[in-house]
Amino acid sequence: MPDTAAARTVLEAQLAELEDRLSRIERDLGETPDADSSERAVQMADDEALEGQASVISNDIASVRRALERIDEGTYGDCVKCGEPIAEGRLQARPEAALCIACAAEPEGA
Ligand SMILES: [Zn+2]
Repeated sequence: MPDTAAARTVLEAQLAELEDRLSRIERDLGETPDADSSERAVQMADDEALEGQASVISNDIASVRRALERIDEGTYGDCVKCGEPIAEGRLQARPEAALCIACAAEPEGA
């Protein structure tokens, strides 16, 4: 049984940090480039990079939220796919991990 109180603290800190990063990126994206500016292409390339980052962070936020839900449900630390306990070292490295190492190593949909 993993230490869910400690995991919750770590996950909530992660969630706060990720949401902070996401809101900063969204603020950057909200700045509309000057249509006449020669920097517009650069700005658009930057926006694409930022959108990529934003989607990665959004996925991370979803993973952390699901991990917090599993703590509430009492299923935290169990692989969501096979139900086996996730190794403690893995949970320490990635507290939001939903899959055991064996399932995570399988290709998507396998
Ligand atoms: Zn598994």
